[in-house]
Amino acid sequence: MSQPQPIRASLFVTCIVDQLYPEVGVSVVRVLRRAGVAVDFPEGQTCCGQPLYNSGFTAEARKLAERTLNILADRECVVVPSGSCGAMMRVFYLDLFADDPELHARAQDLSQRVYEFTEFLVDVVGYEPGMRDGSDGVSTVAYHPSCHLLREMEVTEAPPRLLDAAPGVSRVELPDAEQCCGFGGAFAVKYPHISEEMLADKVAAATSSGADILTACDMGCLMHIGGAAAVKDTELRQALRRAGAGFDGTRREAIAEVTPEVWEDWREQARRIKEHTIGHLDYYLEMLERNVVAAGGQVHFATDARQANAIVSQIASANGVRTVTKSKSMVSEELGLNHVLEAQGIDVFETDLGEYIIQLAGETPSHLVAPALHKTRAQVAALFAEQLGVPYSEDIEEMARIARVVLRQKFLDADMGISGANFLVAETGSLVIITNEGNGRLCTSAPRIHVGLAGMEKVIPSLQDLAVFLRLLPRSATGQRITSYMSMVTGPRRADDEDGPEEFHLVIVDNGRSRLLADPALRESLYCIRCGACLNVCPVYQRVGGHAYGWVYPGPIGSIVTPALVGIGQAKDLPNASTLCGACRDACPVQINIPRMLLHLRHNIAEGQGSYPAAGSDTDSLLARGFAAVMSNPVLVNLGRRIGRILLRPLSKQGMLGQTRLPLVSRWTRSRDLPLPASRSFGEIWRDELSGSGNEGRNG
Ligand code: SF4
Repeated sequence: MSQPQPIRASLFVTCIVDQLYPEVGVSVVRVLRRAGVAVDFPEGQTCCGQPLYNSGFTAEARKLAERTLNILADRECVVVPSGSCGAMMRVFYLDLFADDPELHARAQDLSQRVYEFTEFLVDVVGYEPGMRDGSDGVSTVAYHPSCHLLREMEVTEAPPRLLDAAPGVSRVELPDAEQCCGFGGAFAVKYPHISEEMLADKVAAATSSGADILTACDMGCLMHIGGAAAVKDTELRQALRRAGAGFDGTRREAIAEVTPEVWEDWREQARRIKEHTIGHLDYYLEMLERNVVAAGGQVHFATDARQANAIVSQIASANGVRTVTKSKSMVSEELGLNHVLEAQGIDVFETDLGEYIIQLAGETPSHLVAPALHKTRAQVAALFAEQLGVPYSEDIEEMARIARVVLRQKFLDADMGISGANFLVAETGSLVIITNEGNGRLCTSAPRIHVGLAGMEKVIPSLQDLAVFLRLLPRSATGQRITSYMSMVTGPRRADDEDGPEEFHLVIVDNGRSRLLADPALRESLYCIRCGACLNVCPVYQRVGGHAYGWVYPGPIGSIVTPALVGIGQAKDLPNASTLCGACRDACPVQINIPRMLLHLRHNIAEGQGSYPAAGSDTDSLLARGFAAVMSNPVLVNLGRRIGRILLRPLSKQGMLGQTRLPLVSRWTRSRDLPLPASRSFGEIWRDELSGSGNEGRNG
């Protein structure tokens, strides 16, 4: 009677395990064999190319990826003990070779054969550790789901399931488990301050969980977390975290209330509407213009900020405007409109409470939805006392009352109201604004003139489409089922209207949006409805706040639109200031794939593509080429490891390198220990000890 064939697995061990943590590879082999799997180790493997791909060096990444495709060709199952390298092979190779049919087909073939280690054990082998292990004692273990394993490979259940089934293990929940730890490959070295703050939160969460052991399926994350030294906490970070958690918490509750299935259906509807509209933008802008004019309004198209400001300025001059009230408008911030009007001798008053606070403080917004998010209650109280001459009070209702009294008179005095627009409905020529304070309605109806400012991407075809966004926007922004005020303005006051402006002007602004429209990889950034959900879940935004983004649009979406709108020269750091954790994509109500666009921008910057000639740094480029050259040759990889070990060992203690002044390395070791390169690589251990024995396998 013939023996059943064992399941076979080819191990792609990853360069970090091969060179720094070979013992992890050894354990993976042992577990696989214990589960009855016949393991082989394809020779010549080095790096999958992910560090280069994530840094934008696509040409170099392709070399390593193609090499890996060759090495893993025809292997039945490829097992990778890393969520990020597994995601690279399963998901990102498809993007990397999108323009090459032959390589793309091979990447597609590989993507169906690649498994992350725990996923393979559970889904393919059906391994139950409790059936075969006999561990003693009880370890309390918390599990950190690495971002790419969670959001790109979508492996969620296998790791906790294995832990739960393992004898001697008691699993505890890690608070905020899905928050990125701050590794992000080159991010941890390029932005050590932000990375350290994210790490501090992860360490605090692990400590508070009561776990003795923190585990993850990615050695990059574990090297980062495990190397953590003392990291600090700041007032700003705490404030941002509280606010972000508040908005995001209510957003999640609102989604749970309608059920995730319904929510996904709405998101897909919204995406389809935006895709269609942005794909036919000229058609819908013409329809919008026709219908605004038919309703008695005037439409102005502005190609840039200078032109848009000149249009508003001219409308103000022609109508003898002395006082302007404004409801919230990110576009007016983008244009710097207040300064232009003030230079003309016009008094401009922001009437959204958050905008009013930052106008008094002489600051700029730090959040798309909550512009004064960075200010504490005490700071606002002090500001009101100083600027308005009122008694100091930290009572929020009292502060709101004071603002209301001051602003009420401004509404009555204003000659012109300026509003933004959440949506422009083409079929009716309507401008739609959504607020929670009612100031938008007063701005658009009380003064003689109403000027609406909107980016050209704000148009949607119909009122039926508007209904979809009215469900999504308040829930995504603040977790509200419905907004407090929804104002729809269609032209100026008519003869039989009781109130309303005598003139209605709609200024539709390009100001760099055409560049986004022209680039198929960035076009979806124009689907954004400025809900702020991506900011509230972004671990980088939560640490640095909105002002660190340097311009009007903060957070993940700001990192895409700012380079296009202000020029890459002033914003080339933004696309790199992300760990690519993918939380923004999951939160976005329009399913905007921000990480993919960041990768595209990184590629353009690193390789001087598109409208970014030679924007990357020469040092980065040299390092990338050097890394690719070394990683293309396993002999050089091992030689580099040995030399590195000899040079670094005198500076290390117990196999770890602490703070050092060595260039580049110091950016890691300023707050994290770094393991020395291993004395033997996993490849060498395999060759000497593992290849010849225990490979007969058993059925799992
Ligand atoms: S990118 Fe998505 S989540 Fe972020 S502000 Fe825009 S619509 Fe909201």
